[in-house]
Amino acid sequence: MPMNVKPIATLDERINDIRGRTAEIVNTHILPNESKLWNSRRSAVYEEAARQEARVLREDIKQEVKKAGLWAPHLPQEYGGMGLDFLAHAYMNEVLAYALGAASLFGVVAPNSGNQTILVKYGTEEQKQQWLMPLIDGVMESGFSMTEPHNPGSDPRSLDTAAVRDGDEWVINGHKWFTSNGLAADFFIVMVRVQDDSPDATTRPGQMAQIIVPTDNPGVEIVRGIGIWGRDSSDHCEVRYNDVRVPIENILGAVGQGHQAAQDRLGAGRVFHCMNSIGQMWRAFDLMVERTTTRKVHGGLQRDKQFIQGFIADSYIDIQAARLMTIHCAEKVDAGLKEARTDISAIKVFVPEMYHRVVDRAIQVWGAAGVSNDLPLAGMYMGARTLRLADGPDEVHKILIAKNVLGRYDSGESWDFGN
Ligand SMILES: Cc1cc2nc3c(=O)[nH]c(=O)nc-3n(C[C@H](O)[C@H](O)[C@H](O)COP(=O)(O)OP(=O)(O)OC[C@H]3O[C@@H](n4cnc5c(N)ncnc54)[C@H](O)[C@@H]3O)c2cc1C
Repeated sequence: MPMNVKPIATLDERINDIRGRTAEIVNTHILPNESKLWNSRRSAVYEEAARQEARVLREDIKQEVKKAGLWAPHLPQEYGGMGLDFLAHAYMNEVLAYALGAASLFGVVAPNSGNQTILVKYGTEEQKQQWLMPLIDGVMESGFSMTEPHNPGSDPRSLDTAAVRDGDEWVINGHKWFTSNGLAADFFIVMVRVQDDSPDATTRPGQMAQIIVPTDNPGVEIVRGIGIWGRDSSDHCEVRYNDVRVPIENILGAVGQGHQAAQDRLGAGRVFHCMNSIGQMWRAFDLMVERTTTRKVHGGLQRDKQFIQGFIADSYIDIQAARLMTIHCAEKVDAGLKEARTDISAIKVFVPEMYHRVVDRAIQVWGAAGVSNDLPLAGMYMGARTLRLADGPDEVHKILIAKNVLGRYDSGESWDFGN
């Protein structure tokens, strides 16, 4: 069933037009070809001919997307992107995420897209020519290497991968894991602490920085692709940096800007991720409701059983709540309101939980088919669960919400839910 995207009365014509044209590509080019597009990648049983057909199909769709002017919504126009403003981008995401994996056909592939955004903001002209442009042209791949096995990723202040300046080079030593896209990447953006040579260096952890490290540099050791969700391997890699030397000009921005750059990457980007989750919930909902109208169980259609009507109603409520909360947050971010920080954490906790619940019900309605590779539901389920860890686990965001609320009360004011 195609995604039902009609103009929204409160939105301007431009955003409605982008949503409408995005839905057109999702409905006509992506959904009817969904199994062909991705299955041959997942399994070894597919013949080379099927893989080749999928590659051609993906390239054809990318051309359609470019022709429609919908390529790379996250990039400014001067870098070949749409140059979309924040709200338009958020509203587009819920449409393109309806088909799992479709974002890549619109030029948005994590972690490359996040690295592109950071390179646009912090990169020098030389860095843009050497790393950003090939990334945009699709001739290079990248990864973002921050989390360490021996330190809590939920507290980036704990990271201890060290960069020491030696003449015209940085010498990097450290141990990372879950560096996504690690097997294909040509370079990583590595989060480090620059060794501080001031007199009280032993009591100060050293300032954070991000350094570009080519993966073929001597000393970069890809230990393994970590198996996740029961699979033997993945492209989320464990990486050791053993006396890795890179030129001094590979630093992104200044020493001390590393933490801010990481926040830039994650901060408002969480709104886009939540809008993606909403697009996927919307799809799970459609799949569930559609099934209930044809599947007969115990002498009647599922749709006529009250348990199932409960699933439909609860999922409707979950999606509406998650969507409206995210849009409200996006409007605050768009207006530059400081309070949006609390809302970003609130949606980062709430939306993945709703996503998890909605997909869980859809799987239940579909029975065994729900966990099969014939439907996108199993992939969504794993994605929803993983989201509760990535980009800051739930608990860390709840701490931040409580801190902001209590701070307001400490200052003698109460919370104003109207703003
Ligand atoms: C599929 C996947 C892809 C990823 N890709 C990347 C990537 O490309 N690059 C990268 O650098 N990282 C990546 N990560 C890592 C991710 O960012 C971290 O997993 C995340 O930041 C959490 O860190 P951690 O795993 O070390 O958990 P920890 O920090 O050890 O936290 C574990 C748990 O402790 C609890 N906790 C934490 N703080 C508190 C607190 N203050 N109070 C109470 N409880 C608390 C929470 O329940 C939390 O879930 C990826 C992870 C996954 C699963």
